[in-house]
Amino acid sequence: MTLYQRLRQTQQAARSAGVDALFVTPGPDLRYLVGYDAVALERLTCLVIPADAEPVLVLPALEVLAARASGLEEQGVSLLPWQETEDPWALVAGLVAGAACVAVDDRMWAVQALRARRALPAAEQVAAGTILQDLRMVKDPGEVAALTAAGSAIDWVHAQVPDLLRPGRTEREVGADIAELILEAGHSQVDFVIVASGPNGASPHHAVSDRILQLHDAVVVDIGGTMPSGYCSDCTRTYALGDPDSEFRDHYAALQQAQSRAVDAVLPGRTCASIDAVARDYLTQAGLGESFIHRTGHGIGLETHEDPYIVAGNDRALQPGMAFSVEPGFYFADRFGARIEDIVVCTADGVEVLNQRPRDLLCV
Ligand code: ZN
Ligand code: ZN
Ligand code: ZN
Repeated sequence: MTLYQRLRQTQQAARSAGVDALFVTPGPDLRYLVGYDAVALERLTCLVIPADAEPVLVLPALEVLAARASGLEEQGVSLLPWQETEDPWALVAGLVAGAACVAVDDRMWAVQALRARRALPAAEQVAAGTILQDLRMVKDPGEVAALTAAGSAIDWVHAQVPDLLRPGRTEREVGADIAELILEAGHSQVDFVIVASGPNGASPHHAVSDRILQLHDAVVVDIGGTMPSGYCSDCTRTYALGDPDSEFRDHYAALQQAQSRAVDAVLPGRTCASIDAVARDYLTQAGLGESFIHRTGHGIGLETHEDPYIVAGNDRALQPGMAFSVEPGFYFADRFGARIEDIVVCTADGVEVLNQRPRDLLCV
């Protein structure tokens, strides 16, 4: 799909939602719609997309050259620069005079959203995410290719993790090495590095600490970055230093089963909730239900966490092109934890897995 088509689809979706205009500020939505990777700053940059008129980018005059370089004028977007002493929200309001309902970007700074309200006091404000997430959630082949490249890049990093895990090193030292490898693998940015050893593994979003790796530790390594395309990687493997205890080994075997069953269950028409249930029911039967303390997965694209969320209660049906993580885990406070995470894409007849590293417990 071309960016031009994305803009047209957005306008169509706005019309059916009864929204007169969208205000899209720098962030993943702006990048998705017009390919402009602008930085959110205190000076307003705002793509105004009226439901029934051509889109206009209101931007600081000093950003015009940067915006032009992104090629957005070729998609029919015109530029409306504002000078330092002008009120940019007055310009925006002038473009959508009479609007009864405007959708503001989910990532718009609160201070700007409040100014938007003041500039258009009669207009109802809604979150643009309700319109844009539906479009962003279903990836086109170009986006799937970008996510596939991100998956290969993070696989390349995981392939080297065993060499970095040595008793006596700290999580922080290992994490620093991993961060370098994430960039070396072709990412333009390191998004997060989790090296959760021993009892730290029980905290799913532990980052790194000065804890020294010890023999018999299980180590949860969950890492991701953003590629120059803007698309993100996110992959978890759990490693063991020497032989882990037999209880951990049994739990891990159940986790591996739960993860692969949930991946295999991905099919168009099945609900997000049903994929979560496959992993959760299996772990519950194995006595680990209480220890699986988070949802099974999240969508991924220009953001690491985006729709669709693979969670109980989400009755959204999977469609070909949806990309998301399948990442069950178990967590025992003060003892250990484990997680296995792959990014998958729902295809016309099943699933494509974008991470290829072995999922067996790797003892280093
Ligand atoms: Zn997470
Ligand atoms: Zn992750
Ligand atoms: Zn994840």
